[in-house]
Amino acid sequence: MTHYAPNSWEARAEEFSLYGFTDLPSIRDRGTVVVTHGEGPYIFDTNGKKYLDSNSGLWNMVAGFDHKGLAEAAKAQYDRFPGYHAFFGRMSDQTVQLSERLIEVSPWDRGKVFYTNSGSEANDTMVKMLWFMGRAEGAPKKRKILTRGNAYHGVTAVSASMTAKPYNEVFGLPLPGFIHLTCPHYWREGRDGESEADFTKRLAQELEDVIAREGADTIAGFFAEPVLGAGGVIPPPAGYFQAMQAVLKRHDIPLISDEVICGFGRTGNTWGCQTYDFIPDAIISSKALTAGYFPMGAVMLGPQMTDRLQAAIDPIEEFPHGFTASGHPVGCAVALKAIDVVLEEGLMDMVHAGTGRMEAGLREIAKHPNIGELRGVGYMWALEAVREGKTPFEGTLSVSERIANTCTDHGLICRPLGQAVVLCPAFTLTDAQMDEMCEKLDAALRKVFAEIT
Ligand SMILES: *Cc1c(COP(=O)(O)O)cnc(C)c1O
Repeated sequence: MTHYAPNSWEARAEEFSLYGFTDLPSIRDRGTVVVTHGEGPYIFDTNGKKYLDSNSGLWNMVAGFDHKGLAEAAKAQYDRFPGYHAFFGRMSDQTVQLSERLIEVSPWDRGKVFYTNSGSEANDTMVKMLWFMGRAEGAPKKRKILTRGNAYHGVTAVSASMTAKPYNEVFGLPLPGFIHLTCPHYWREGRDGESEADFTKRLAQELEDVIAREGADTIAGFFAEPVLGAGGVIPPPAGYFQAMQAVLKRHDIPLISDEVICGFGRTGNTWGCQTYDFIPDAIISSKALTAGYFPMGAVMLGPQMTDRLQAAIDPIEEFPHGFTASGHPVGCAVALKAIDVVLEEGLMDMVHAGTGRMEAGLREIAKHPNIGELRGVGYMWALEAVREGKTPFEGTLSVSERIANTCTDHGLICRPLGQAVVLCPAFTLTDAQMDEMCEKLDAALRKVFAEIT
């Protein structure tokens, strides 16, 4: 049953476009929101309806949808030099500058950067680098990759194998050799009577056991988001990264921080690893790297990884990998501007200043008996809906989809994830916009809970 006319934008979208990660019955029911433009944190559809996008696109549009400086940086670079690659000993001047800048803002005093078009490709690239290093070092068995339950590392065949979500079963994934450890979610995974500190200890012991079972010489790397993002905004339990890294170091297994969401301010610091006080061996960046104004990802190698990769390259004098648009000059020019906007022009300060207001607003909403947990940090939060205690609603009720759809009706975009609702707004949000977000969410939650309880 559709509610839109033939030849409408909604009908045309459905006839010719394939949808990723979309609940199709709800599209048939409600029609696609076809978006024409944005203003600050708001988007507008073809019917002129305005929505506050509390997810800043997909976590990435941190400077809002109409940042003049970012658009101008892109236009200026399109006029100067609209596109080039980074193969065969050539590279744009913008690419050179961005790599310098990324290492300057990294947690290390030296390192090197490799560019991709997306976060998925950056994770794939990192895995290929690890495999390449292992073989060059005479350890061809060193190929297994460790990630955690509910992790999201992307959708390409390798990064989807790292993504630990049940939906990948329909593709026959994960590939062999991708091992998923327990999700570090204390509220959900902690046992009765287990303290947070004991939970952390158990997860570190699990890592130790998996390494013993598989053999340290078969494991190429451990990948982790500082806060699991698409897994439902799950901050780590206290001491988690310190405990995990101690085990990894003992077995000489690199820790790669997938900072595709956390990188560039989302947690209130430049990197999520700073918020949780650890120094990874490599960083994966994308999303806010260009404030969403250009598709781009980056693999950033710390000192040790840089040296290992160089040693692997030396005998064959080439790293045989790269994308046509790796280090695209327009993307690099946009990223250089985005880094300035976030770090120098006050956007990250706005996250610092606004976190308290956001948390307080959501804590008020979370008093509702059907909210089991409020969790988050900086400008990434989730409210977990429950029937009661920790018991979820019946799946057939599609509670978080209902909440998201009700929000959409009221002009607020928010994201259903499992039975949680995720909020990760632009860093530019004013107090009034923050209040609008909380009020609209509160009204939608009350309406939906009243209907199903
Ligand atoms: C979004 C995301 C990716 C994948 O990035 P794409 O650009 O969508 O390929 C990888 N890792 C994390 C943590 C992400 O949130």
